[in-house]
Amino acid sequence: MIDLDSNATTRLLPEVLEAMMPWLEDGYANPSGSYKAAKKARNAINDARAQVADLIGASPEEITFTSGGTESINTALHSLHSLTGHGTALSSAIEHSAVLKCIEHLDRQVEMVGVDHSGRLDLDAFEASLPNAAFVSIMGANNETGVTQPLVEVIERAKSRQIPVHSDTVQLIGKLPLDVKEAPLDLASLSAHKFHGPKGIGALYIRNGLKFQSLLQGGGQESGRRSGTENTASIVGMGAAAVAAKSFLESADHSALKNIRDHFQNSITSEIDGVTLNGNIQHRLPNTTHLSFDGCDAAGLLILLDEAGIQCSAGSACMTGKQKPSHVQLAMDIPEDQAKSSLRFGFSRFNTMEDAEAAVQAVKQSVEKLRRIQGPGVGPVTIYTP
Ligand code: PLP
Repeated sequence: MIDLDSNATTRLLPEVLEAMMPWLEDGYANPSGSYKAAKKARNAINDARAQVADLIGASPEEITFTSGGTESINTALHSLHSLTGHGTALSSAIEHSAVLKCIEHLDRQVEMVGVDHSGRLDLDAFEASLPNAAFVSIMGANNETGVTQPLVEVIERAKSRQIPVHSDTVQLIGKLPLDVKEAPLDLASLSAHKFHGPKGIGALYIRNGLKFQSLLQGGGQESGRRSGTENTASIVGMGAAAVAAKSFLESADHSALKNIRDHFQNSITSEIDGVTLNGNIQHRLPNTTHLSFDGCDAAGLLILLDEAGIQCSAGSACMTGKQKPSHVQLAMDIPEDQAKSSLRFGFSRFNTMEDAEAAVQAVKQSVEKLRRIQGPGVGPVTIYTP
């Protein structure tokens, strides 16, 4: 099986698993305890905090561990909502559902700025909406298209009006460098399983000095910012994944990943007719490509590719056999047929050039086969794209 669905989740690195194991065995003590084993767990958590901070150029006390990207996002947005005066929650039309649904539930007016055809935020529209905003939440990179957003410009414009900024950086972290000194966000949400750490663990960056209100009330762990007994093993795993991500970003393996993605993408677009590459080519994660195949239903393609041993995702929301353009594709004004025939491929450091080559051949054969047999509609199929 060749896994090209790394924007959905990633494989645990061996060194991450190794770092976690002792904390699942003998190191099970509650980190809040007063005895030696508890202190050891506390120290391990604080080491991981420093490692995660180091990945994004933050200070350790600016990192709060959570149960993942979704909780970090909900915590950040609830805090901003509770502590800012009147005004809109200013976000974008292409955010992940964790942001969209959370914002919808706040008792506050919402304004969603659009994107251009390439999937990048419309900065002029953003600027025009800023005077009415109480706070801003703009993602770092989109999970479907991999298109990166102009975070520095967003921050500069919001900061000039003293408007706090949160970013869902779940897809960005580990794939491209982010330094919160260069992109001075107030809050940033991270998720370990997107960069070869364990699932169910994440972090919220909270800039020193920012007013903050916790979402979960309870035992007051994480300096009162996130109650609940700490998941020592997963926190240690996230720390180890952060260390590995930092050295990966600085290594030749990072440019190799882009070369593998580019080879795959270029081979597909040159060897198969009727393929459209969706999303901004210049401002994009180095691992992602989002492609539409004329005359092919994405659900059918996914089945054929799965049979051929290739794991990837539909580029649009696909439920109970009915392909529907996703909110991201709608915001990008991608025509419906193109949206319904799109696939998302996400490479990772585990993929090789041979994987890319094998995937090209599998996609080629699947597209040819589907074009031969494809009648209107190939349901019913149930596929969920996170
Ligand atoms: N934000 C983005 C952009 C994502 O892609 C995801 C996961 O798919 C999330 C948030 C949610 O993160 P988690 O799975 O850690 O809750």
